[in-house]
Amino acid sequence: MHKETKIICHTSKESLSVKTINPPLYRASTVLFENFADLCKINKGEYQGITYGTDRLPTQRHFEEALRQLEDAVLTRIFPSGIAAIQAALMSTLKAGDHLLICDNAYATGQHFCTQFLSRFGIQSTPIPPNAGADIEHYLRPETAVILLESPGSITLELQDIRAITEIAKAKNITTLFDNTWATPLFLNPFALGIDIVIQSLSKYICGYSDLLAGSVSVSAEYSDSFADFYRLMEFITPAEECYLSLRGLKSLATRLRQHEQSALVIAQWLETHPLVAEVLHPALKSHPEHHLWKRDFSGSSGLFSFTLKDNYTEHQFAAFIDSLQCFALGYSWGGYKSLLVPYDVKRQTPCRYDGKKIVRLNIGLENPEDLLEDLATGLKKLTLA
Ligand SMILES: *Cc1c(COP(=O)(O)O)cnc(C)c1O
Repeated sequence: MHKETKIICHTSKESLSVKTINPPLYRASTVLFENFADLCKINKGEYQGITYGTDRLPTQRHFEEALRQLEDAVLTRIFPSGIAAIQAALMSTLKAGDHLLICDNAYATGQHFCTQFLSRFGIQSTPIPPNAGADIEHYLRPETAVILLESPGSITLELQDIRAITEIAKAKNITTLFDNTWATPLFLNPFALGIDIVIQSLSKYICGYSDLLAGSVSVSAEYSDSFADFYRLMEFITPAEECYLSLRGLKSLATRLRQHEQSALVIAQWLETHPLVAEVLHPALKSHPEHHLWKRDFSGSSGLFSFTLKDNYTEHQFAAFIDSLQCFALGYSWGGYKSLLVPYDVKRQTPCRYDGKKIVRLNIGLENPEDLLEDLATGLKKLTLA
């Protein structure tokens, strides 16, 4: 055998199978068949094994199954990002002529997908108030096919009355989609509240380290066959490394989330007493307008919340506050171990109780909360001094 061929045909005499705690990371486009008979089975629809990289390799399948069990879903599929998961869930359930309701505090890029892309295919969408409940009746049309909810919303944290909405939707055969990124499956089971399809951005708490993008769609029994077909048809593929790292992140989710929850509550309660702060938007606080819904439906709160200020400050004053912070970094996304802060100017299509107000959103990380408090206390003083 020539050396060029030896490099290619090299085989090891050692057994390559070894038992590790984490499942191995498989990378492949081509998957080999044992023999010609196996290949022939594919054409007859009789082959049970994995045929190609887009057929979901074991690394992806392991992670899907872990999420599926945690979410009480019938089928789970992974996507290259949270927004890709939202888009796929919408595309799989809508057709030309359909109408869609979307809560006005839902992830903005998902809303843009509806107004700027789905509209080109004859699918109309209407925003509904972020704290909608049984009042969705007013927005329904005969052709309403889907309702997309996100509760609490990830900037202003209003909650929808999920039970009231799913009750109406079920009676009218409308499919309900729910973005569960904030609560994760540990603090909310949307299926138990009548939701049909649950979406998550795994880039947040499931990953936990702010170093990957991934999303998931999990569906109830009624949608499992159609969603599996849709996924196969579209050949969405998420790199094996992202699945491997997401599964690794999932293992420590419960411990991390407990800490995020505790630290966020300490800081939220302290902010409520701060003289410059007007309102703290955190569903687990009694002062939150939909606190009763959080208490009824959720079993915990995560580390993402916001606050508003009593006065209006200039850009210069905000710069003095934000740029002075030592623990909080300035950046998008959330759910990771590092505390982050982002100010937002809220603009809405439906009436919003924070319209025109500057919202400061905090992602509470895994630092000691005392250091985070001190950082905010020092930073907020700069607002009035600058
Ligand atoms: C970040 C986010 C998304 C989008 O997820 P990506 O993984 O960043 O694409 C969707 N929904 C919510 C609530 C989010 O916070």
